[in-house]
Amino acid sequence: MIKTIFFDLDDTLYLFEDSPSKLKAEVDTVKEINKRLNKELYIVFDDFISSRHKFKDAHKNDAAKYDRFAWYQTFLKEMGIADDEFAKELEKLYWNVLAENIVPYEDLKTIIPQLYQKYNLYVLTDGLEYGQMVRMKAMGFDKYFDGILCSEQHNSLKPDKKVFDYGLKIAGCNPSEAIMIGDKPHKDIKGANNAGIISIWIRRGKYAGTNPDGDNKPRYIIKNYFKLIKILDELK
Ligand SMILES: [Mg+2]
Repeated sequence: MIKTIFFDLDDTLYLFEDSPSKLKAEVDTVKEINKRLNKELYIVFDDFISSRHKFKDAHKNDAAKYDRFAWYQTFLKEMGIADDEFAKELEKLYWNVLAENIVPYEDLKTIIPQLYQKYNLYVLTDGLEYGQMVRMKAMGFDKYFDGILCSEQHNSLKPDKKVFDYGLKIAGCNPSEAIMIGDKPHKDIKGANNAGIISIWIRRGKYAGTNPDGDNKPRYIIKNYFKLIKILDELK
């Protein structure tokens, strides 16, 4: 019997990559940085993106990879501005602007209150707590979830089995009693498969056009969240 549903956050609960809300948050923070630099905006924008790529490459396998504060801190230092307070303000500005403009998937919004009645709901994310909480609250989902499990807690990155084992431990259930829903086959699906959790791929966002196989092959594929109710009924 299914007791627990784990959701990834970005691109699983709402459109993140290439969304207007993400772009607005990026633009607003870059403009804020440029108040101190007075350069052409496109240069600052490009430089920030390259700096971020370098940082993420250097932290490929650790949770710091998604530490936006560290991205700003590093970039500001490269620009000759050593100001951690400012980096902190930029991090908050980014998440707040994103949260103000966030649009959760409409079909998911409809079914979350139904799922809440029957299952324990958790977010299982590689992201850091501050940004994830701001967004969950902005979407109005926080009250339906039993926990938002972020990388400060599990201290690893998907598809590492440790992330999923941590989720199972917190939820107090066996792998066969849980499902994991996510948009990234090589992270959410692979990780769930390796942990023995039933994997469901929401075919939206950047990876929608791919055809995952092997370890990345999901047990179920959904294109809309109403289908999830049907799958859960079958799994009962
Ligand atoms: Mg995702």
